[in-house]
Amino acid sequence: MEQVLFRHNRPGRCVTFAEYRAEGGFAALEKALSGMSPNDVQQVVIDANLRGRGGAGFPTGKKWSFVPRDIPGPRYLICNCDEMEPGTYKDRILLEANPYSLVEGMTLAAYAIGVAHAFIFIRRGYEEAAENCRRAIAEAKEAGLLGKNILGSGFSLDLDVHQSAGRYICGEETALMNALEGRRANPRSKPPFPAVKGLWGRPTVVNNVETLANIPAIVANGAAWFKGLARISEAAGTKLFCVSGHVNNAACFELPLGMSLGEIIDGPCGGMLPGREFKACIPGGASTPFFTREHWNVPMDFDAVARAGSRLGTGGIVVFDRNTCMVAATLNLVSFYARESCGWCTPCREGLPFVKDVLARIEAGAGREEHIAILREHVQYLNYAFCPLAPGAMGPVEGLLRLFEDEIREHIVMGRCPLGGKG
Ligand code: NAD
Repeated sequence: MEQVLFRHNRPGRCVTFAEYRAEGGFAALEKALSGMSPNDVQQVVIDANLRGRGGAGFPTGKKWSFVPRDIPGPRYLICNCDEMEPGTYKDRILLEANPYSLVEGMTLAAYAIGVAHAFIFIRRGYEEAAENCRRAIAEAKEAGLLGKNILGSGFSLDLDVHQSAGRYICGEETALMNALEGRRANPRSKPPFPAVKGLWGRPTVVNNVETLANIPAIVANGAAWFKGLARISEAAGTKLFCVSGHVNNAACFELPLGMSLGEIIDGPCGGMLPGREFKACIPGGASTPFFTREHWNVPMDFDAVARAGSRLGTGGIVVFDRNTCMVAATLNLVSFYARESCGWCTPCREGLPFVKDVLARIEAGAGREEHIAILREHVQYLNYAFCPLAPGAMGPVEGLLRLFEDEIREHIVMGRCPLGGKG
């Protein structure tokens, strides 16, 4: 299977600058700065149909195209590496193996958008990845590939690493910008979207690590090549799937978009652990509704997963076996979101602890029939929250109600967890 993001990986260590260069690294930047206009770079990303890999899948080139070019003053580019969605660890794996594709991709993106100052906003706990980024930036600068007058082209870019305060909400792009400005990390209202009014009120593009790391290969090889990497025609490129749970080989794999869920679990994941039977999974990070055996053949791509009732999200697949209690698993996830609510808006601040409490009662055997209707109502109410945190938290609750209502009811009728609370 063709590796784009993992192409330069070395077993057990980070690729070096010299190795990355020797394998064609920064050739895309040379190509762009010597013969492509900023608009050409944007166009190839649009044509490639690269969709944002942070979870939402918004078309990357389209997002860039929203940035107004005709107003004076600075524009900014931010790489969002505040990866903290439970079950999601792909950006860490990527940056621990190779920070150079990100640095090159950010330089290409900055050139396309007309940005002179960009930031890598990275999770507090990602020390090794942050260190790799700092080293890659210094090496690229030293080689004339970053900083003033890159490769004599007249284009200059400053790139800074900023480590976050370590809260989940800092990954929400507008809270992230508040954090970067030194304010409390509350989300801002959207619209205006950051592409129009972002960091310090200026047009700002926020892209995920994996998204930006794809740009060099797209510029080097073209849009048709990128589209051809996917398994199905409506998709484009590869995707990092980070798998955890009850499989033999829980790791991060670069796979063509459009491979089915079953192919991923039986293939690279090596199937279920001995003696375990598949019950369900989170298909794309903690905010996505569960998939069950009926979704085994769903192609893992943004639109196909959405048509099947969930979201591809971050590509963080968490696999559960038959003995997993889905109420306990959901409670576990909702507890995380309740803890990480920033408290800014009432539906999230008050609603998440309430939903957590209802799930905890059901799990403890103190549930009542009306709790099912209460949970259903709250899936609706929490959509009125200010930012996607609370609606995201309701993803697994919605999946629980849709696919495992019988299991909830069993808890209520039996007055205990039928599976001994294994979440
Ligand atoms: P969103 O759909 O609101 O926006 C996606 C992106 O497109 C944003 O950058 C937004 O600014 C841009 N956009 C959307 N419409 C636009 C428009 N009309 N004009 C200009 N720009 C526009 O989603 P979001 O709130 O940014 O992200 C939600 C996703 O984040 C969830 O799907 C979840 O999977 C993911 N997530 C990921 C992590 C992680 O650790 N990687 C953590 C939490 C959530």
